[in-house]
Amino acid sequence: MEELYDVIILGGGPAGLSAGLYAGRSRMKTLLIERGAPGGQIALSAELENYPGQMLEGETGATLSARMAEQCARFGVERITDAVQTVRLDGEVKRLTGEGGAYRARTLIIAAGASPRPIGCENEREFTGRGVSYCATCDGAFFRGLDVYVAGGGDSAVEEALFLTRFARTVTVIHRRDTLRAAKSIQEKAFAEPKIRFLWDSVVMRVDGGDVLDAITVKNVKTGALSVIRAAAEDGMLGLFGFVGYLPNTELFREQLPLENGYIRTDENMRTSVPGVFAAGDVRAKSLRQVVTAAADGAVAAVQAERFLAGL
Ligand code: NAP
Repeated sequence: MEELYDVIILGGGPAGLSAGLYAGRSRMKTLLIERGAPGGQIALSAELENYPGQMLEGETGATLSARMAEQCARFGVERITDAVQTVRLDGEVKRLTGEGGAYRARTLIIAAGASPRPIGCENEREFTGRGVSYCATCDGAFFRGLDVYVAGGGDSAVEEALFLTRFARTVTVIHRRDTLRAAKSIQEKAFAEPKIRFLWDSVVMRVDGGDVLDAITVKNVKTGALSVIRAAAEDGMLGLFGFVGYLPNTELFREQLPLENGYIRTDENMRTSVPGVFAAGDVRAKSLRQVVTAAADGAVAAVQAERFLAGL
């Protein structure tokens, strides 16, 4: 029979690692399961300047999350890499099975995150963190005085385009149709903003560059014409932000937990509708998805899991 943990944390991003830290400090027998490298989405961020107190020269999302992981380990949290494929949330013991084995715990903290939907262009992965980004709040300031491009036409794309005008010289929204999906009020602000331009009926086909992004190939979907947008010679680089929707990593829970636009619904104590099951970070329905809010969610979830066990 598999080991019975007090808590299993599913996901090794800031929410999961913060939950691990708090669970470990509470001396709960804790297993953290992550499917890839630790860090979740922030591991993709080349620089990180909006996490409170983070002012270390050379800090990246990957180095910060590596230290978070080390901090968890100091408090006895076991961490393994496995891709969980099934979960059973009913009953007092929560059961998970992955490619590498089966796991049991009395409580579960789901911190599986959400993934930005890729723009879907060639070379996208290679330039992520080197000109291609999915987070204007995290990375907008790195494009101060440069021309930046935003793929998408929904609320996120247009709101983030407006945010990016604080830094960028120009912001061009590349949208696959000739009308925006974004709410009218947001559209009005964007149309009134002199720094914002629109490239209608267009999709990004590929991105190119050397160390950093300096060219974007765009296709007009009506005419099929391809054009290449190049960075101004004096700039040497461009920014491309993808906001073509998000995909919460909730496929495993679809039948067992109420979802809101695909995200797990919780109360303010991170409790889901199933006793002993909590959700933290980007995977849950919330208004601000940042490292600082993920870390806070993780701490709350772990404390609540401890209280739940104490009450059993
Ligand atoms: P979204 O509403 O799903 O919009 C995605 C946009 O990307 C759409 O304009 C879509 O084009 C485009 N798109 C999708 N796949 C694409 C592809 N493969 N290539 C090119 N373009 C593609 O996503 P979101 O803007 O991230 O918003 C997600 C949810 O959060 C929405 O419900 C939104 O209302 C909400 N939200 C609300 C606020 C707010 O209220 N302030 C802010 C942000 C987000 P089409 O239009 O042609 O489909």
